[in-house]
Amino acid sequence: MARVLIVGAGLTGSLCAALLRREASSPLRLTVWDKAGDSGGRMTTASSPHNPQSTVDLGAQYITCTPHYAKTHQSFYDELLAGGILKPLISPIDGMVTKEGDCNFVAPHGVSSIINHYLKQSGADICFRQRVTQINLRDNKWEVSRETGSSEQFDIVVLTMPAPQILQLRGDITNLISECQRQQLESVSYSSRYALGLFYEAGTKIDVPWAGRYITSNPCIRFISIDNKKRNIESSEIGPSLVIHTTVPFGVTHLEHSTEDVQELIFKQLENIVPGLPQPVATKCQKWRHSQVTNAAANSLGQMTLHLQPLLVCGGDGFTQSNFDGCITSALCVLEALKKHI
Ligand SMILES: Cc1cc2nc3c(=O)[nH]c(=O)nc-3n(C[C@H](O)[C@H](O)[C@H](O)COP(=O)(O)OP(=O)(O)OC[C@H]3O[C@@H](n4cnc5c(N)ncnc54)[C@H](O)[C@@H]3O)c2cc1C
Repeated sequence: MARVLIVGAGLTGSLCAALLRREASSPLRLTVWDKAGDSGGRMTTASSPHNPQSTVDLGAQYITCTPHYAKTHQSFYDELLAGGILKPLISPIDGMVTKEGDCNFVAPHGVSSIINHYLKQSGADICFRQRVTQINLRDNKWEVSRETGSSEQFDIVVLTMPAPQILQLRGDITNLISECQRQQLESVSYSSRYALGLFYEAGTKIDVPWAGRYITSNPCIRFISIDNKKRNIESSEIGPSLVIHTTVPFGVTHLEHSTEDVQELIFKQLENIVPGLPQPVATKCQKWRHSQVTNAAANSLGQMTLHLQPLLVCGGDGFTQSNFDGCITSALCVLEALKKHI
């Protein structure tokens, strides 16, 4: 049975796994490795250490479906809406720019529930805390090594991490990437920002008329959301949660600072925007070094095939655009590239 490794348990990786399971004409053994401790990637949902039911989306906030993708990706939207994984966004987001015909959705159980839905469908073996460091060719297979030093062999490998992390991999892969592909990967650029999640005790009232708000007049804070209100799951038993996204200039300036220092700075600015907030019971500060793609790989057609026999393919929003539909497009292109081999 052919062994397929997907590196990355974000939206692109989980979708690739689910689509491969659906479309493969012969039995496959699917494995997903991620360096993180949980699924989601940049669609992560963090839980309060005091109450796992109190959650906050630290990366992607809501999904905007344009009339074009409502048609071309209709089956994906229909499936997630039918399963209650996506629901229409009905809470007010101040300063949100909406174009005519667009629909916005939230994931009531947190945005990572989308990824978990696809991972479950895929039936893949999923292993966390597995950072891939090297990819070598051995006997016409890929020998993939982890930070721990151990390695395993696969017939097909799909890489879905941000382009700079693909370029950090060592081993034979460094010689297999053509000069033109290297330039294309190097040209993919990302914004950087921080996200701060705040968890409050049950019963805490946050008295603002919005569920989310874009801020245009603060050097540090770009977006705030009362996350449980945004997802329309307010409850008297579960404390509210708040997420703050910094501006990109602030993120870039403070990229190498400690998260403790950055958290302090965000707190100070937050007091100017929402004065008198109570003390949270827990906090989670997340650095997004590779936040959203600002420049995608040119002429990449949604994926990049680094090697044909055995097959080594890269996908992700770096080859399309940084949102839900960008990841679907890329996963479909990866599937197309793999079809002849599965
Ligand atoms: C702050 C922020 C806000 C956003 N807002 C929105 C929004 O509102 N709506 C929207 O649609 N999109 C939004 N996005 C963009 C969206 O989150 C991304 O486009 C999408 O999540 C990308 O998914 P991906 O699977 O391609 O990559 P990722 O989610 O980055 O997944 C890649 C995975 O690879 C893993 N990995 C990396 N290197 C290695 C390694 N060496 N070994 C093993 N594993 C590795 C990572 O841990 C990660 O889990 C936002 C993103 C951010 C950061």
